[in-house]
Amino acid sequence: MKTHARAVIIGGGISGCSALYHLTREGWTDVVLVERDELTSGTTWHSAAQCPNLAFNQLLILLRSYTISLYKELADDSDYPIDYHHAVGGLRLVTDQNQLDASHHIISVAKGVGVDFDLISPEAAIERNPLLNKDGMIVALWDPLDGDIDPAQLCQALARRSRNVGAEIYRHNPVIGLTQKPSYDWVVHTKSGDIACEYIVNACGYRVNEAGAMMGVEYPVVSMEHMYFVTEPIEELKRRESRVAMVRCPRDSFYMRQEKQGLLVGVYEHDCKTFGIDGIDPGFAKSLCPNDIDRCLPKLEAIFDRVPCLKTVGIQSIVNGPIAYTADAGPLVGKLPGVRNAWSINGVRVGIGEGGGYGKVLAQMMVHGEAEWDTWQLDPRRITRYANREYTALKAIEDYQNEFRWHMPHEHRPAGRPAKTTPLYPILKEPLQKS
Ligand SMILES: Cc1cc2nc3c(=O)[nH]c(=O)nc-3n(C[C@H](O)[C@H](O)[C@H](O)COP(=O)(O)OP(=O)(O)OC[C@H]3O[C@@H](n4cnc5c(N)ncnc54)[C@H](O)[C@@H]3O)c2cc1C
Repeated sequence: MKTHARAVIIGGGISGCSALYHLTREGWTDVVLVERDELTSGTTWHSAAQCPNLAFNQLLILLRSYTISLYKELADDSDYPIDYHHAVGGLRLVTDQNQLDASHHIISVAKGVGVDFDLISPEAAIERNPLLNKDGMIVALWDPLDGDIDPAQLCQALARRSRNVGAEIYRHNPVIGLTQKPSYDWVVHTKSGDIACEYIVNACGYRVNEAGAMMGVEYPVVSMEHMYFVTEPIEELKRRESRVAMVRCPRDSFYMRQEKQGLLVGVYEHDCKTFGIDGIDPGFAKSLCPNDIDRCLPKLEAIFDRVPCLKTVGIQSIVNGPIAYTADAGPLVGKLPGVRNAWSINGVRVGIGEGGGYGKVLAQMMVHGEAEWDTWQLDPRRITRYANREYTALKAIEDYQNEFRWHMPHEHRPAGRPAKTTPLYPILKEPLQKS
């Protein structure tokens, strides 16, 4: 094992592998990734791994478009091809006027960065996914590049390319301590020995705060349990030659994609649950949370009405795993505030769909001092100390409950308020209290 490197990345999920790969692409090959278990053994291995192009602002669209193009390039590499269902296409169901207005808005936002989404009729949506019932559907927002990838193969492909140009990866080697020297360089203490380096990157997924504790930092990140189920094979899918379009439904809070000859259906339930706030079992690796599908029952009736074949097909497996949320639901990609030479790629909810982009901008910032896009909305410095653990948990629950709902202009989401106020707050509040 090396005893010195320019940068050490802690964590070998999609975030760490993408950071490693992009650092090598930007020219830093003296870089190391340290993983406590196997690559992808955190959240990444069991991800539904959808890679939509549709997002709700220009930076996220750019990150997703880049991610899709990178994954396509990896999948087309004849030396190491990976399973990627590229450009299957995705339908976001529009069932009320607010969603329709928001769809028009996002179509024009996307046009500004050269990306096209379309509104299509319910009949056209059914042609692309005949398992859907069109009741109550006004239109569907069509994302032609939506797809899904094998997340384990994806990380192996990134690792392979990184190793080919000199990067090293040490598996089964937990980081157990971090010491910062007076020069601000680091010593990364691992089970197999120390590695001295200039920069560290925390990419520890739901264990972000274990690495944080080694630096005396609490990240505004709390994980939520999240579930999907996979059905047994469905006759109609067995007969088809092409895959049915992927589906996301803001009204009924679910997503759905084809998995082999069955369906994978993920639910954002209202009665949701945080994960690991008071500590995580050290043995929780390549692991799942207990199946708790009953939490999803209040949503299932509407989902089954939307996809009637779900009423009769059996459920083959249920996956319940941790997914990281920050205090404002955006990721933390960039410089860690208050600690020199420490970088972050944490709190990523859409780690597969945006992970290529996160690695790219992080590497650009580390190597060149800035990224090609305005990354303020990813910048860890945007969330300050008001976001303590309790506040972050309240916001994580609220964001999870609203995961698929459009956030309308001037809509206030109340959880955790008023953790941070302006000096005018008590003055404006006073007359209201008197009246
Ligand atoms: C059920 C489910 C479905 C999902 N579906 C999608 C989807 O469709 N599309 C999408 O984009 N996203 C999806 N996600 C989210 C996505 O999977 C995550 O955002 C992503 O996998 C997070 O990757 P990561 O690398 O940040 O974290 P992880 O995959 O958790 O990786 C962190 C790594 O750090 C390692 N580590 C931790 N501590 C240490 C230490 N001290 N020393 C060394 N190594 C350490 C861990 O072992 C782990 O391998 C889903 C998540 C869930 C739970």
